[in-house]
Parts: sequence; C-alpha cells; structure tokens
Amino acid sequence: VGVFYRPLDKIAAVMETYPKGIAGFRRYQELLATAPDIADRPGAVAVKALTGDIGFHDVSFGYTPGRPVLSGIDLAIRAGQTVAFVGPSGAGKTTLLSLVPRFYEPTGGRITIDGLEIADMTLASLRRNIGIVQQDIFLFGGTIRENIAYGRLDASEAEIVEAARRARLDGLLAALPEGLDTVVGERGVKLSGGQKQRLAIARIFLKNPPILILDEATSALDTETEREIQLSLDELSQGRTTLVIAHRLATIRHADRIVVVTPAGIAEDGPHDELVARDGIYRRLHMAQTQGMGMDEVAP
Ligand code: ATP
Repeated sequence: VGVFYRPLDKIAAVMETYPKGIAGFRRYQELLATAPDIADRPGAVAVKALTGDIGFHDVSFGYTPGRPVLSGIDLAIRAGQTVAFVGPSGAGKTTLLSLVPRFYEPTGGRITIDGLEIADMTLASLRRNIGIVQQDIFLFGGTIRENIAYGRLDASEAEIVEAARRARLDGLLAALPEGLDTVVGERGVKLSGGQKQRLAIARIFLKNPPILILDEATSALDTETEREIQLSLDELSQGRTTLVIAHRLATIRHADRIVVVTPAGIAEDGPHDELVARDGIYRRLHMAQTQGMGMDEVAP
C-alpha cells in the first residue's frame, strides 16, 4: 500500500481542480514529480474538523536557493474570514496560498491552523480540511455523479443531489436525459467552462471543508455565467475561511480584508473602503481596474 498510497493521495488532493490551462497543468505535473519529499513527519497528527484560524508566522519561501519569492510573511486570519489577495503577476499570491495545503514547505517560519503547525498534521487530514477551486477544472472521463462524489467518496445519493443543487447544477441535470449518469469528458458530453466550475463547486459542497482556496478566473466566462458562479462561490464561502486570489473587483469588495502582495512583501492589508481611502497601491489598482486596465499595468 505504501508505494501506491502516497502518490495517489497527493494526486487526489491536487487534482481536485485543474489549474490554469497547459501552463498550470505542467506546473502541477512538475509539482507531483518534484515534491515527493513532502511527507508526514514521524508522529504527525491526523486532525479532525479544523475551525480554520490560519496563521503565517515569519514565513519565507523560494523555489530555488538564493531566490526568495516570499519572506517575512506574517498574517493572522480568523476562522470564517474572507481574505482577498491581490497584486501584480508574479508577486507570489499563488505561491503563498499553495503553502497552506503544503504543496510546498516554507523555507523559514511556520504556518498554523487552529494554533497547530500544519507540518505536524498528516497531509491527508490537512487536505481534507481544504477545498480548492481554480480556473480550469479537472474532470474524470466518468459520470457527473462520479465527478461530484470525488469530493467525498462515501457520500450518499441524497448528499450528491443536494451538492449539485447548491452548486446550481440542477438546471443542467434536468436538461440531460441521463441526469447524474451522464458521462462527461472526451467520450461524453463536453461541459462548458461555467458548468465545470459548478461541478467543482458541487464537489466542495460535498466535501464541506472549513477552509476554501479560490484562484479566480480572469476571463473565460460570460457576464451572466460569471455572476451566477459568483453567487455559488459566495454561498460556498459562507462559514468557511476563504482565501481568494482576486482578479475581479466584485470579489474584492465583498472580502472582509484585502491583502496586497508585491514582490517586496505584503504592502497593504485592510477592508476595501479603508484601502481605497488610503493613497497606496490598492487605490491605484482599484482606479486602474475601474478604467479597464489590468493589475499588471500598475507600478507598485
Ligand atoms: P499571477 O497573478 O500571475 O498568478 P502570482 O502573484 O500568483 O502571479 P506566483 O505564481 O506565486 O505569483 O509566482 C511568484 C514567483 O515564483 C514568480 O517569479 C514565478 O515565476 C515563480 N514561480 C512560480 N511557480 C514556480 C515554480 N513551480 N518553480 C519555480 N518558480 C516558480
């Protein structure tokens, strides 16, 4: 079991969603290939349901020695808070959030959940407490039911149906003659980007983790679909600690807090109104987006 268990466990945790297109796929392939050393420490604790208080304590990280991506990161996130991470491309937002499910280990400092260092938890139990939604979703070439049940393999039929409803998949299911038994993927029905997102959301409703990580889509969806998905995501984030890499102003406004990440570290941290009132980088990002510019066109 040992030989097969660990890679499968890792893939299961990572492949819940399928990141950013081919580049993202390569990145995760790379991650699966190059991070086999992340394993349970001797005496690691299998945690049950966590509350979701997250602490970064002087965290630093770099992919290659001598090239730090993050350094001296301190953050205290209360359970149930929604925190949006914004900033220019390459500043380290994805990297920062990928440390929470331990896709990578910090090179310095500690990350805690409910006061317990995540490195002292078993990987499987840590990741059972975290749901991840990304732009491009990984689907199996199986039925919709199987794809949803992947969120929690022992779920009952009623729970799967309820998760589909909460993710607003019921309309689609009603329109498909075979409903939940519809085969999707290459050999079956090809789902749209929005439908795949809903399926990923259904998986997480089923999994019901206290912590949610959202890496938002920048484009791809039409306005109406985007609005509906946003409603489902808002509902999904209720009562969960939600960390979101935000590209859209709508999400940023709703967040309890916005953390502005720059290559130099965390530049600003506070609610939307407070940061807009301040004459800082967030205000400039906000102004730029209002004028239809991308975040990368703003100098930090
Ligand atoms: P974006 O908004 O474009 O997603 P980001 O703020 O999320 O950007 P990261 O993707 O975390 O930034 O990247 C931070 C830095 O780390 C960049 O310089 C990037 O090139 C580098 N980086 C990211 N992933 C890897 C990797 N797997 N191996 C080596 N370097 C990486």
